[in-house]
Amino acid sequence: MNPRLVFWVPAVLRLGLVAGAAGIVWWMAGAVTALAFALVIVVTLLVVQLNYLHKLGEWLNDPKSGKLPDGWGAWTDVFARLYRLRRDDERNRDDLTEWLARFRQAMHLLPEGVAIMDDVLFLEWCNPAAERHLGLTLERDKGRRVTNLIRHPEFIDYVILGRYEQPLTLAIRGRKLVVQVIPFENRRQILVTHDATESDRIEAMRRDFIANASHELRTPLTVVVGFLEIALADPGLDAETRTAHLKLMTEQAQRMQRLIEDMLTLSRLESDEYPLKRERVDVHKLVEQVANDARALSNGRHQIEFEVDGPDLMGSAEELRSAFGNLATNAVRYTPAGGTIRLAWRRGPDDLRFEACDTGIGIDEQHISRLTERFYRVDKSRSRETQGTGLGLAIVKHVLLRHGGKLSIRSTPGKGSVFTASLPNTSLQG
Ligand code: ADP
Repeated sequence: MNPRLVFWVPAVLRLGLVAGAAGIVWWMAGAVTALAFALVIVVTLLVVQLNYLHKLGEWLNDPKSGKLPDGWGAWTDVFARLYRLRRDDERNRDDLTEWLARFRQAMHLLPEGVAIMDDVLFLEWCNPAAERHLGLTLERDKGRRVTNLIRHPEFIDYVILGRYEQPLTLAIRGRKLVVQVIPFENRRQILVTHDATESDRIEAMRRDFIANASHELRTPLTVVVGFLEIALADPGLDAETRTAHLKLMTEQAQRMQRLIEDMLTLSRLESDEYPLKRERVDVHKLVEQVANDARALSNGRHQIEFEVDGPDLMGSAEELRSAFGNLATNAVRYTPAGGTIRLAWRRGPDDLRFEACDTGIGIDEQHISRLTERFYRVDKSRSRETQGTGLGLAIVKHVLLRHGGKLSIRSTPGKGSVFTASLPNTSLQG
């Protein structure tokens, strides 16, 4: 129904009723009594209206303080509508609060830094990632000019020139940051920061890896190609030289094969497509096989002992064999003839560990932290002579990482080394 009618019809009816009642009083008791009667009713109505007006005023001063009265006459509708408005308002406020909390949480978790500035670059808000990236503290720096907080000439040029189409790369506090300003809402700008240090490091590692791998493959390939050219140029080569060349070519081809196999193993270990397949590993059998392989490689030049004093564990037998095998063969390869190699599987204070202990050439302290890097070798020629690819310890490290373990190395140059593959005791089951 038309709201005007809803308001006016009852009001007019009510006034009509008063007038009708006054008319009846007039007829029964005369004009003066009727006027007095009408006056009393009108004054009563006025007092009622004023009372509701007062209540409304009080409520408007502090809407949360109390409940709205039910009201009378037109007030019923006014209060009902106000009540609905308040309920909708509360609901909207709750929704907004919830959204704000979600937004805050999302901003807290965001790895990218976000800072909001006004049109003259005064900081209004920023998330924890932006605090970390830019060395800001929201509480302290709010309301300060961003160019005073990030005193980096390139950044200052960037914001002053306003060339925001392109992001800017900055080196801030030893990290590589990519920052970009995005204007919004006319009078505000967002500063987004991305920490590219890690992705840069990975990219550099990839580049190095490709360069190293190509270099490693090029040497044996050059040898093979060289001999093939000799054979082509001189078909009458005597049988002895020919056999010697073929032998050398085979060695180089095998070296390439080992390299490619190790590279493939590494890439499999790093790939998400090959998740760790855990099975019960018979460690006694595994260590025995590893010791036998080491003996075969040593060919009687070393004394090789093994001891199994720990339980079986859950893990990938194939990967663990490759890791333990690499440690055992390294012990053989870097121990002069006559040395002793001890392989052991035992319980540590809170882990299970495979130890490969040798009385070999040892390693200088300065190299130890870098040994698990791909292609890192202390002595290149010794590594190659003993058929090393430079990837063995990188494979060990990855296998252990996949099993939640780690590699530790103790060594004394000239005396020997102990390589310890430590695996969490939790991998033990049954
Ligand atoms: P490589 O194929 O060259 O042996 P690894 O990754 O297995 O590659 O080992 C990296 C380097 O660590 C080796 O080149 C060698 O210098 C050193 N190393 C590994 N094991 C031993 C060991 N038991 N004794 C001395 N040096 C070792």
